[in-house]
Amino acid sequence: MGNTTDLKLSNIEGDEELTEEQKLKYVNVDGGKRCPFCGSLGVTCLYEKGQFVGDKDQGGLHLEIPSECPTCKKEWIDCFTLTDVREAPDHTEGD
Ligand SMILES: [Zn+2]
Repeated sequence: MGNTTDLKLSNIEGDEELTEEQKLKYVNVDGGKRCPFCGSLGVTCLYEKGQFVGDKDQGGLHLEIPSECPTCKKEWIDCFTLTDVREAPDHTEGD
């Protein structure tokens, strides 16, 4: 008796995973520029550690780049998919 366990929503610190809402905001609103956990600017994207993963024969290849937040010390993986390619507009033939 006396044990209240209904405080789960009040504290999201810990090793829980990102919510779908946090992910969508990070990808579609913040464009990966803000920490998905604490919202801090100045996240560090470790491009040199990026690597392609998945099966290229099935079109599932994507680039994963680890990122970290110097503010809250969280780490996560940015997932990039190459969707298209086009010629650079200032690079014309016969130049
Ligand atoms: Zn953070």
